[in-house]
Amino acid sequence: MNDKNLIWHGDSNYLYVFQFGRLYTHTGIFINGKTKSAFLIDAPFGSYEFLKTSVLRDIFVEALLITHCHWDHIGDDHLFKGDGAKVYAHKDDRTVIENPKALIPYAGSDMGLTPCIIDEFIDDNSFLTLAEIGIYCRSVPGHCPGSVIFYLGCAGVAFVGDTLFRNGIGRYDFPGGDKNLLISGIKGKILSLPGDTIVVPGHGEFTTVAHERENNKYLK
Ligand SMILES: [Zn+2]
Ligand SMILES: [Zn+2]
Repeated sequence: MNDKNLIWHGDSNYLYVFQFGRLYTHTGIFINGKTKSAFLIDAPFGSYEFLKTSVLRDIFVEALLITHCHWDHIGDDHLFKGDGAKVYAHKDDRTVIENPKALIPYAGSDMGLTPCIIDEFIDDNSFLTLAEIGIYCRSVPGHCPGSVIFYLGCAGVAFVGDTLFRNGIGRYDFPGGDKNLLISGIKGKILSLPGDTIVVPGHGEFTTVAHERENNKYLK
């Protein structure tokens, strides 16, 4: 086991975070060791091969939750789906996930992405049970129209994609971005979580809700 990547465990449950790809994108991996089932949060390029030969060996990935449709978070989504993972994402990010060629007018290429059909759309304030634990899903648009955050109450950890960073906020200058929507979403949907919640952004250092409430100058 890779202890430095293990950020929480309880009974036979394990929560790992790894980084993959050119932009060191975070992937969250929750494993229920009793049922040998797991779910993932984001699947960047390079994540499939590494995880299948390490922490996910002999584990069934029942679901992949996508924080948002940017290329650095979804490169290997179709590979996990090919093994039977149900793919969850917000409907407002459907176009790029299902048809990466839609990126060509903006980015000049499809960024090497393979189309991946979403199985279940995530609604704001919905609750999922995966690998026998509960996940609160909240919609926080403004970085992407379909940006979603996932709060794992049992672990006290929130995966926030690229909405909030330690002492910073996500970019809002991409297509579909909106600064005011992003800031109000962070305040209402993330800063309202318990103060000791560990916040795992899409990239960079982890933080806590309390730290961002007190120190993040974008959220004053
Ligand atoms: Zn992004
Ligand atoms: Zn990103």
